[in-house]
Amino acid sequence: MHEFSAACSIVEAALEGAKGHRVKRITAVNVEVGEFTFLVPEQLEFNFEIASRDTIMEGASLNITTVQGRVKCQKCGHEGETKVDTEIAPQIAMFSPMKCSECGSSATDITGGKDFVITNIEVEIAPGQSN
Ligand SMILES: [Zn+2]
Repeated sequence: MHEFSAACSIVEAALEGAKGHRVKRITAVNVEVGEFTFLVPEQLEFNFEIASRDTIMEGASLNITTVQGRVKCQKCGHEGETKVDTEIAPQIAMFSPMKCSECGSSATDITGGKDFVITNIEVEIAPGQSN
């Protein structure tokens, strides 16, 4: 249900962002999803469809850009992108420490790729009187 709560917050944030702009319909939502969120894009899209039902964004497309995770090593100070070990199941990987790509130490701090953000939304504006 990880993806469902993420999808709900995307829907809520997009609806909130559309408020007061005479938005008739939200047609697309562009999001950046960090690798360390361990959100599965297909699952996110599926849940987004459910979460957006009966709102002005029903049927909107969700465009997902994956952002690679970054870690800073406490041991050697190296900071950079890291890869999630694809041999570990995501359910387990999300609780396992990320290894430094330089020295292999597990004493790392995640500095990027932990969040998902809406970069922009595409909308249809309702025709109306200007005031
Ligand atoms: Zn290191």
